[in-house]
Amino acid sequence: MRNILVVGGAGYIGSYMCKYLSKNGYQPIVLDSLVYGHREAVKWGPFFEGSMSSRELLNQIFSTYPISAVMHFAAFCYVGESVTEPAKYYRNNVSSPLTLLETMQEQNINNFIFSSSCATYGEPLEIPISETHPQHPINPYGRTKLMVEQMLADFGNAYGLKSVSLRYFNAAGADPDGELGEDHHPETHLIPLVLQTALGQRESVSIFGDDYPTKDGTCVRDYIHIADLAQAHLLALERVLDGMPGGQYNLGNGEGHSVKEVIETADRITGRAIPSKVTPRRAGDPAVLIGSSQKAMSELGWKPAFAALETIIETAWNWHKKHPGGYKS
Ligand code: UDP
Repeated sequence: MRNILVVGGAGYIGSYMCKYLSKNGYQPIVLDSLVYGHREAVKWGPFFEGSMSSRELLNQIFSTYPISAVMHFAAFCYVGESVTEPAKYYRNNVSSPLTLLETMQEQNINNFIFSSSCATYGEPLEIPISETHPQHPINPYGRTKLMVEQMLADFGNAYGLKSVSLRYFNAAGADPDGELGEDHHPETHLIPLVLQTALGQRESVSIFGDDYPTKDGTCVRDYIHIADLAQAHLLALERVLDGMPGGQYNLGNGEGHSVKEVIETADRITGRAIPSKVTPRRAGDPAVLIGSSQKAMSELGWKPAFAALETIIETAWNWHKKHPGGYKS
């Protein structure tokens, strides 16, 4: 069985990836600092607690297990915090991956799958956004993701590293089996906040601005299920393991949903009235972000199976209902 090191394998998307790898005949080895990750979400292979900035720990893992590829899900991801605490983001999202990549190179591990982001594009010049859209991120979070993409390209040229960068649009939903889900502290993402409001844990959901140039005035985003992200990661992994070239791919559904539409859909699915109130715009939010994933479909053979907003919200609701206090429930 091939071992895949999953850095950030105790987090929201990384933990589901481990389950998916295991189902598909790979052995995930998890490295996670547990700063944001959950020990309860690591169930499918050996676990190492610590930082990818520790060469000693990385060398210990690499000398214990022959590793075929590394997947990285361990970035900090709060856009607002990246503006007020950029050092934290450059350290964790750029400096630590640099150590990881250098250690991989020393150990002759040459396959890397990176969770990148549509935040690398910045303000969209056209919709849908394709991979050739200029990358001019507008916040430190987006810049850290772009810097790693650039490092990967340079490591590819100089050392033969083979890498795939997957640029996620809005990751959402939960494990269709109901075993794994989204448990962030603090929670800042729309869908979990809406569902926590449905559970009565919050008084209301804030709609960040209703004066955008969109059909109902609220921001439009492209929500993509974590199981579909995992499928794309596996396809990308198999592509590089088969000796094909790496690359960059958008992962979105090519369809946008407004904030109001998300709240209305959640109203319907939960059967509960979800109070909302309009508040000022959040800084740095483009009106519309929708990705074209034609490249992932044609080159990787990716076929999203959980694309409907209803399915995304249903799976998330299923998790939130059963885990009202997150993993500690
Ligand atoms: N949003 C909102 N209220 C909230 C959280 C988010 O109106 O409490 C909006 C946000 O402005 C954006 C969309 O919902 O247009 C998705 O935001 P989220 O933070 O989930 O993801 P992001 O697009 O920032 O990655």
